[in-house]
Amino acid sequence: LRDNIKRLVPYSTARDEFKGEASIFLDANENSFGSPLPVNYNRYPDPMQWKVKYKLADIKGVPPQNIFLGNGSDEVIDVLYRSFCRPGVDNVVIFPPTYGMYEVSANINDVIVRKVSLTPDYQIDMAALQEAVDEHTKMIFICSPNNPTGNSINRDDIEMILNNFDGLVVVDEAYINFARQKTFISELTEYPNLVVMQTLSKAWGLAALRVGMAFAGEDIINVLNKVKPPYNINQAAQDLVLVALDNIVQVNEWIRETVVERDKLAAGLISLKQVLEVYPSDANFLLAKTTDAKGIYNHLVAKGIIVRDRSKVELCNGCLRITVGTPEENTVLLETIAQVPVTA
Ligand code: PMP
Repeated sequence: LRDNIKRLVPYSTARDEFKGEASIFLDANENSFGSPLPVNYNRYPDPMQWKVKYKLADIKGVPPQNIFLGNGSDEVIDVLYRSFCRPGVDNVVIFPPTYGMYEVSANINDVIVRKVSLTPDYQIDMAALQEAVDEHTKMIFICSPNNPTGNSINRDDIEMILNNFDGLVVVDEAYINFARQKTFISELTEYPNLVVMQTLSKAWGLAALRVGMAFAGEDIINVLNKVKPPYNINQAAQDLVLVALDNIVQVNEWIRETVVERDKLAAGLISLKQVLEVYPSDANFLLAKTTDAKGIYNHLVAKGIIVRDRSKVELCNGCLRITVGTPEENTVLLETIAQVPVTA
């Protein structure tokens, strides 16, 4: 923990201290008359988002006190840095190619990033990791399933790291709903240094609402709550998430459909002359090695289809990252790639 965070007295409101019922709220300088909307948003939202956390606790099988909510997991990443890493002194380890915000957020917070490249089969190089860690290493970010490669990281390696590293092990499970591997949330009681991140932006279909989650021991969660902006999840997002969380049947149906489409899309891609390899995916996207990533990318853009060109990223030479679309979208995608002349 940073020294300034140890000393920090968090922002508080009159409503934190007030435990009873009240009907007249004149404490927060809101507009007492209402909102110019059919729904009233004139009151500040619950800073601790308890209603959402109770519902998530039910779904995830963890107590609500072990849940932190951020304005997307991107805010969770930022709050982790601001809580635990001293600018200019501490470092974190990441495993490229991986999700870009671990490094961007470190740079914003002036935290040193140590990069331990994944092996050619996109797993953690355990010997290189051991070399990279020193007494100033505060966090290790493990993205599993990994973005952009799509594969899960070996569970044994993650457990080995949890058992041997003193700092926080952040397991980013943004894509866990599409994976064969099971979540690390069930290991929280076992490992006091474990932070599991998930998000409502992927399987839950709520990317625009910006709600990310961290699951960890209560001591860690309490720190994150002290550091976050007081009202980081707005009332509209809290209200809509509560409705969405009741629709788990629909979400599970989409997850099944996405996995079926992913495997169909992988088969479709590999049958094209323009595609050399499709990597195994535990996520809702595929990494495909192509004969000409830039040419295919540009042709797709010209036809109004956007994929992610990852061909300049290390270990991803020639690769495009393609989100699994609807069956109709995937068909158009395959037909459009097939139009590109094969250069190599
Ligand atoms: N982690 C990973 C691995 C991601 O790919 C993404 C989004 N691309 C995020 C976190 C961020 O998600 P959120 O929308 O919750 O900020």
